[in-house]
Amino acid sequence: MKPRILQAGRLLPALEQRLAADYDLHRLSEEADPNAFLARHGAEFTGLVTSAGGAGAPTALIAALPQLRVISSFGVGLDKIDLAAARERGIAVGYTPDVLNDCVADTAFALLLDVARRTAEADRFVRAGRWAAGQSFGLGRKVSGARLGIVGLGRIGQTIARRAGGFDMDVRYHSRRPVAGVPWPHEPALRELARWADYLVIITAGGVETRHLIDTAVLDALGPRGFLINVARGSVIDEAALVRALVERRIAGAGLDVFEREPQVPAELLALDNVVLLPHIASGTEETRQAMAQRVLDNLAAFFAEGRLVSAAA
Ligand code: NDP
Repeated sequence: MKPRILQAGRLLPALEQRLAADYDLHRLSEEADPNAFLARHGAEFTGLVTSAGGAGAPTALIAALPQLRVISSFGVGLDKIDLAAARERGIAVGYTPDVLNDCVADTAFALLLDVARRTAEADRFVRAGRWAAGQSFGLGRKVSGARLGIVGLGRIGQTIARRAGGFDMDVRYHSRRPVAGVPWPHEPALRELARWADYLVIITAGGVETRHLIDTAVLDALGPRGFLINVARGSVIDEAALVRALVERRIAGAGLDVFEREPQVPAELLALDNVVLLPHIASGTEETRQAMAQRVLDNLAAFFAEGRLVSAAA
């Protein structure tokens, strides 16, 4: 008998098809009243498939699935999964680390280059006919050789640091603990890193421990010549403080892939030219999303065949 699996939120169509072929799959999103469905059928499910940037696995959902043995999440962020509840009940939690490092690092650089060299803004300038009308476009800021501060030097942070070598950038990083065996200097004080950096890239974990790590004090340390890039989670930045700093030009600009209340983006940011805004697409290439989907399937298959995960989050 195929294991009965609940799907929370929508996933890539190809992944949904494979899941439906391999398992007795039910999509919670198809229920008009999900809570009533869970109250009646929650005990049927041994597996939950979800996504890091979407539904996650919140406390109430885990509690509604009393026979749950495995969660397989599409993505690497764990901030929407109640890991403590899973641990307490011995539920295995699988995720998709590493396979997305390249694309998230590439997106960090896409944002950094764009906001520094003003490429999206210049594109709008050309499309508006302003070049053809004889106007000149202002100057950007140099990326090659500049100072890059990285907040969070985990799997993706290290990939970003290696990319920076190709731009001859001077790299330093901040995290709670120094990382052994890396060539870049650790800066124990986040504000000092911000003061030093021309570009500050945020790629820590999300969740309560990093909530509003980037606050007014850090933004003011970065200063009017400094740029902020966020490819981590919106919660890591005090978004109201960031909006104020940008509107008042207390920092030079920002490149943002993530926001505090997605898909809502503060209206003030839409009116600013020194901000590049992306709809949470840092890992969003065909190749990487396919590799993530495969890892979701591999985690489930390994769990049901051998009781282990390929990539265990906890
Ligand atoms: P890792 O777990 O490998 O790295 C996380 C890093 O954050 C570590 O260096 C850790 O160091 C640091 N960190 C954690 N807490 C703090 C803190 N309070 N202060 C300073 N540094 C901290 O994760 P990954 O590199 O794989 O991924 C990082 C995050 O990127 C994910 O958690 C996810 O939320 C986000 N992400 C976003 C994507 C997007 O689409 N925009 C796509 C993929 C990932 P230490 O513990 O020593 O402090």
